[in-house]
Amino acid sequence: MTAQAINMPVINSLDFSRKAQEFRDILPLLRFSRLGEYLADTNGSLEITLIGRADKSGKPTLHLEVHGVLKMTCQRCLDSFEYPLDVAADFVIVTSEDAIPSPDSDEYDDEVDYLVAETQMPVIDLVEDEILLTLPLAPKHAEKECVGAGKVELEKPSPFAVLKGFKAGKSQND
Ligand SMILES: [Zn+2]
Repeated sequence: MTAQAINMPVINSLDFSRKAQEFRDILPLLRFSRLGEYLADTNGSLEITLIGRADKSGKPTLHLEVHGVLKMTCQRCLDSFEYPLDVAADFVIVTSEDAIPSPDSDEYDDEVDYLVAETQMPVIDLVEDEILLTLPLAPKHAEKECVGAGKVELEKPSPFAVLKGFKAGKSQND
């Protein structure tokens, strides 16, 4: 195996599923180029498990799990914090885009993602897409761990309070 093959595994997704293959590896965060811009620190690695198997009705599927800890920047206090990443996703492999059932059909399963079969699918792309989908848009510390917590709330009334005041004022005038 070349170094490249070890670092960037590529699978034939349909074969991988039909042969019930498994891929388990620990990949450094630095390998995930798109993820990098969301991180405060790219040190560390992610534990990846990809399992090929058939679902109850015999359809080829992939089950993906990603575990690790990401260092992200808190959008409230701009300090970094550790974000535990635990991704579990299931994919049904279809032979073409036309084979993806429409969302309003009985066949459609909203618990899974549909993936068009590829003979050369980089595992890292699948993993990275799935991580990016689960990341919070505005990552923040837990309230009690954040030095910025409470400040914003004190300065600005919540939009609900404003709305309530507005409605109350209106009804008094009626
Ligand atoms: Zn914070």
